[in-house]
Amino acid sequence: MQVKTCRTCKKLFQYVEGKPVCPVCRKEEDRLFVEVKDYLRTHRNATLEMVHNEVGVSMKLLKEFITTERLILSEGSPIELYCEKCEGRIYSGKVCDKCKEEQFKAVEGASNELGAKLASQQANKSASQGMHGRRR
Ligand SMILES: [Zn+2]
Ligand SMILES: [Zn+2]
Repeated sequence: MQVKTCRTCKKLFQYVEGKPVCPVCRKEEDRLFVEVKDYLRTHRNATLEMVHNEVGVSMKLLKEFITTERLILSEGSPIELYCEKCEGRIYSGKVCDKCKEEQFKAVEGASNELGAKLASQQANKSASQGMHGRRR
């Protein structure tokens, strides 16, 4: 058994798995999640601010619902979410399906590529010598 401090209410609790949130706060999050989902179902044009104000859910938690892919936005939603990699429009998570796939492939090939990458980085470094302090 592990004891952790709840990320939300700062109380100590018996940690089991997942994110460090106590059972009370977890329950509250689940309740809010259902409310957010219901709210978005009936208010398809709602923005993040609207959901935050109407449901009373914190922006942080609201964004977490989306980035963890728990909440998937409808296609016509004005809530704008962009892929971290290619900046294409997405409706859940952090990156689009295409980039996710590429990321997955990259991880698979990473062990082989690592050596080559380090070598090319080394080459770049010596090529760009004398350009110190020039950052865009
Ligand atoms: Zn708590
Ligand atoms: Zn992308």
